[in-house]
Amino acid sequence: MSRKILILLLLLSLFCAIGIQEMFEKADLNDRARQGIDNSEYRQEFFAPDMRKNKDFLSDECRIFLNKVEKDSLYFPIPSSTLDDSLTVSYENSWMAERSYKKTNMHEGTDIMASRNERGIYPIVSISDGTVTSLGWLELGGWRVGITSPQGVYYYYAHLESYGDIQKGDTVKAGQILGFMGDSGYGKEGTYGKFAVHLHLGIYCWDTGDEISVNPYYVLRELEKKKLKYAYS
Ligand SMILES: [Zn+2]
Repeated sequence: MSRKILILLLLLSLFCAIGIQEMFEKADLNDRARQGIDNSEYRQEFFAPDMRKNKDFLSDECRIFLNKVEKDSLYFPIPSSTLDDSLTVSYENSWMAERSYKKTNMHEGTDIMASRNERGIYPIVSISDGTVTSLGWLELGGWRVGITSPQGVYYYYAHLESYGDIQKGDTVKAGQILGFMGDSGYGKEGTYGKFAVHLHLGIYCWDTGDEISVNPYYVLRELEKKKLKYAYS
């Protein structure tokens, strides 16, 4: 075989490979465009930088919900302390990790852990404007607050030590204190101390009539840039 033909064949196979890769990428994008909010990949990767950059490729339903959360989420739920630098928080991407209380549950949220394991120290502020649509004890969530934003996104805050000055039906502003971080839950009303002090945060879409949770992890990563400062120690 002459050298020219060999080079030609090599080039041809290279073009084919690029063509096939493009075809797969297009198929992947088409696939994304068909997904609903209940798609597990969408819920897992929700708000990740790649998803936000490529949101035009999402289905209308998925893109609209993403835009709502983008518009509504204004502040990180735990302000930093102006009085004590050692009061920090940390969290991991633990979406769908196993949690067990009575039975195995899949984790539908993000746990924001307190560097000081003491209930009642860290204030919790509302991420968004909204209405207090649920308040009170839940066996799993302990003292919990549910805020429905103007766009209809439901933010769920659980395991509080106590509440701020809020009641069911109240209107709240983003940054307003909802309560204080604690370790309530996993038992009858008033149970504390079954796990370390933390805030469990959940983000839900209720548009379709179903309660569909998405991974709050990447939303929180973005909100790190929007941390308020409060005087607490
Ligand atoms: Zn949790």
